[in-house]
Amino acid sequence: MKLILLGPPGAGKGTQAKLLEDKYGCTQLSTGDMLRAAVAAGTDVGKQAEAVMARGDLVPDDVVVGIISDRIDEPDCAAGFILDGFPRNVTQAEALDVMLADKGLALDAVVELAVDDAILVSRIEKRAAETEGGPRADDNVEALRQRLQVYHAQTAPLIDYYGEKGVLRSVDGMAEIDTVSGQIAAALDSGAK
Ligand code: AMP
Repeated sequence: MKLILLGPPGAGKGTQAKLLEDKYGCTQLSTGDMLRAAVAAGTDVGKQAEAVMARGDLVPDDVVVGIISDRIDEPDCAAGFILDGFPRNVTQAEALDVMLADKGLALDAVVELAVDDAILVSRIEKRAAETEGGPRADDNVEALRQRLQVYHAQTAPLIDYYGEKGVLRSVDGMAEIDTVSGQIAAALDSGAK
């Protein structure tokens, strides 16, 4: 199974990606996790990304496209992968199309976790309050609001991008975790390979 999980910060993409890993035996590829690991390790990519991430903006497209391309080639992705947090804009989506075609791969589906903005803001504020001073430098209200703004401006257009390609499945991301995972499974069974 080769999937994209699409949705704003706080929509539960990471949680659902983990459940999908268990169900389908494919690998979660979270660009956010990979970038945080690069920051922690102090690599060149990490140094380039740190300040950008802390304020909630996007790191350069070529950086994340390169990371994902290398990662998809690793053996644990042979059984499939779940892209969590990538692509984040149309440029990255177009680069992904080219990359997958070059590798002889195709997406099975793009699953959108649809979340109401007002609910998201309260979830985000709760998460920020719970994690302030914690492991994520971007879990403060200001950065999270910026990430939400970036989502609307740059990532939400991917809903139309994949909708036009006929691969988009939308589920209600505001339901309980188990309900959402059930809806994702139903959406995949109904249309995806
Ligand atoms: P996430 O964990 O997916 O919320 O990502 C945390 C941060 O990492 C984002 O706010 C961006 O600064 C950066 N990031 C993650 N994925 C991407 C991506 N595909 N393109 C650009 N920046 C990204």
